[in-house]
Amino acid sequence: MTEETIFSKIIRQEIPTPLLYQDELVTAFRDIAPRVSTHILIVPNKHIPTINDVSESDELTMGRMISVAKTLAKEEGIDEKGYRLIINCNEDGGQEVFHIHMHLLGGQRLGPMLSV
Ligand code: 5GP
Repeated sequence: MTEETIFSKIIRQEIPTPLLYQDELVTAFRDIAPRVSTHILIVPNKHIPTINDVSESDELTMGRMISVAKTLAKEEGIDEKGYRLIINCNEDGGQEVFHIHMHLLGGQRLGPMLSV
């Protein structure tokens, strides 16, 4: 398992970052460099580096990430117009922080799904 990232410190609030949501499995906070008007990161509290490292015992956590995304989208007022959820994996996927995180993106019309 790779070393913890800055996200573990945010989860533990060793680096103070306003949390939008936290429970025993997941934590959500705003992206430090938002690409669109609503850009939230939803992360497992447990350090799981990439989607490749997800195991059967993580299924509840991964499902909770989706449920929290739904709740936050409603709170942000973007649920009806729509939004996008993205999890990048490894180099080709563009992953920069090796602690799984789901991007919740919305608040404006998003461009094409991929630019390659
Ligand atoms: P990735 O490219 O790994 O899918 O996305 C990593 C995301 O984490 C980027 O959108 C980046 O802006 C965000 N990020 C990196 N460091 C921090 C940080 O210290 N705090 C917050 N809130 N977001 C961060």
